[in-house]
Amino acid sequence: MINVTKSYLPSLSEYVTYLEGIWERGQLTNHGPLVLELEERIKQYLGVRHFFFVNNGTIALQIAIKAANLKGEVITTPFSYVATTSSLVWEGCKPIFADIKTGYCTIDPKSIEKELTNQTEGILATHVYGNPCDVDVIAEIARNNNVKVIYDAAHAFGVEYKGQSVLNYGDISTLSFHATKLFHTIEGGGIVTSDDELAHRISYMRNFGHNGPEEFFGVGVNGKSSEFQAAMGLCLLPRMNEIIDLRKSICERYRKNLINLPLEYLKIQEGTTRYNFSYFPVIFETEEMLIRVLNTLKNNNIIGRRYFYPSLNTLDYVTNNLHNSNSENLSSRVLCLPLYPDLKLEDIDTISSIIQSVFRHNE
Ligand SMILES: *Cc1c(COP(=O)(O)O)cnc(C)c1O
Repeated sequence: MINVTKSYLPSLSEYVTYLEGIWERGQLTNHGPLVLELEERIKQYLGVRHFFFVNNGTIALQIAIKAANLKGEVITTPFSYVATTSSLVWEGCKPIFADIKTGYCTIDPKSIEKELTNQTEGILATHVYGNPCDVDVIAEIARNNNVKVIYDAAHAFGVEYKGQSVLNYGDISTLSFHATKLFHTIEGGGIVTSDDELAHRISYMRNFGHNGPEEFFGVGVNGKSSEFQAAMGLCLLPRMNEIIDLRKSICERYRKNLINLPLEYLKIQEGTTRYNFSYFPVIFETEEMLIRVLNTLKNNNIIGRRYFYPSLNTLDYVTNNLHNSNSENLSSRVLCLPLYPDLKLEDIDTISSIIQSVFRHNE
């Protein structure tokens, strides 16, 4: 079986070397030496000022929303993983959906401006598939309207915009290091900010609010991760450039194999100086064709995923303020094909020829 993704694993002996160190020290969690080392190395790799390793990408979003003090209306994208919207609702905010730019799949700044009111407290946008949002235009909108910007950058590890990490844009960016993500720590996540005051809030909020053993800065939660998860990150981090190159060549082979078909691909934001090939989304002309391809692949034990379907404005626990949106239209027609570093060339070719055969039978 070929799944849409497969977790990258280091050699077992490399991981065991880290485990031996954990056994010697006896410290399993609570900001141990491996967590601190991973935080330092990620900060260097990404070129960011503050980085906090947390236990998943959802708690990263929740802490970011709390640290930014968002409580009311937040303009957000309907085209993302459900955690983007559910974290807002979980934190007591009201998601207001802005539509997306078809092709790019990211939030449309023009639509953000339409949804802005004097109730708007913030913007939560996703660099979906690692494709940077219009970060300069959004920064301008935020400045003019005095609202905070959080980026769900769960897909954007290693992405650079205008020569620096895209995580440096916005007040806070959050990452997911779940096993299915480009860079993973089994379960895990990260929070990035360049603002020292926000960094202070984030650092105590992820540790129960502690200021020493008996005092508290304020309310907090348990966002800590363990030495075991940090060890996985330390094994994978040195491989990231190689992993991104492998993914790039897989995407190029798919594109070459499928070149004659009426399919559209992600348009990468102008100004992107490094893309990470975290997903390979394919956009069909109709949902019917997508379903035919998805089912035929499944009959051959190949699992594509409808990232991201349904459009989040249609969830039954939100107010749907968008109808007939680009997001609903796109989410019904987009399929992510299997993409992981050790996907074999012959498997890419098999997947491609199955897709070709579905189109041939449709003629
Ligand atoms: C994976 C993902 C999350 C959630 O991350 P977890 O680490 O699984 O909690 C949030 N937002 C987006 C866009 C994601 O893809």
